[in-house]
Amino acid sequence: MMRKAHITVLGARGSIPVSGSRFARYGGSTTCFALVVGGVTVAFIDAGTGLINADALGLKLAPSVEVFLTHYHWDHIQGLSMMRELWSGACAVCVWGPDDPAEILERAISPPLFPVSIADVASIRFASSDGPVDIGGLTITPFAVHHPQGACGYRVDGPSRSVAIVTDHETGTNLDSGILDAVRGADVLLHDAQYLPDELAAHRGWGHSTHEGATSAARAAGATELILTSHDVGRTDTAIDEMVESARRAFPNTEAARPGMEIAL
Ligand SMILES: [Zn+2]
Repeated sequence: MMRKAHITVLGARGSIPVSGSRFARYGGSTTCFALVVGGVTVAFIDAGTGLINADALGLKLAPSVEVFLTHYHWDHIQGLSMMRELWSGACAVCVWGPDDPAEILERAISPPLFPVSIADVASIRFASSDGPVDIGGLTITPFAVHHPQGACGYRVDGPSRSVAIVTDHETGTNLDSGILDAVRGADVLLHDAQYLPDELAAHRGWGHSTHEGATSAARAAGATELILTSHDVGRTDTAIDEMVESARRAFPNTEAARPGMEIAL
């Protein structure tokens, strides 16, 4: 029998963590999503600071866990540096990412930038994410997105539903059609909505979208549900509520990602 599966959002903030009462509902931790099958976390998409929320949310990790990175900017990898199960050896971890994840992470997580080197962890492996991977009955497929230094999104096909995750992507660029091909037929689209439309002109080329770009992508791909993510560092709970209201005028079934949110697979 197929085991039930879902995604738990652990962090949905872009760029750098924030804290304070104005960010209480949508959270301050950076991007991290747990893939949970039969009640056990088998993988993470991205390893931002949200990864450390796994304990607080009561997630139980499998003895072997896969971490799929979209890219290597700090807000997507810092959770690895504080992942207790990785450093203690409690979990065997395989890190997947574009290009050469071993070479890049060994530069980012090693002295003098961090007290110890991730290369010294005995139970870690690295793999290039260049095609579909089956994990615990889920199929995880990378696709290229438009973001500085390059990045990818991941489509997760589960026992009942498919979720496409596009955390960092600038719409209106040459990769849009390839992304739509990868996302087409997915039930849920989790999409970058870092900027408001009137903020975009000052941030062209920074590799992020507006909620208008996200709703257009959801409509074009035929998704039934849109979840906005990669919230800007200054975007308060109230401002995110307003952004969701605006997005719903173009795509009614829109929400914004927040820690603890569960998305059925
Ligand atoms: Zn980035």
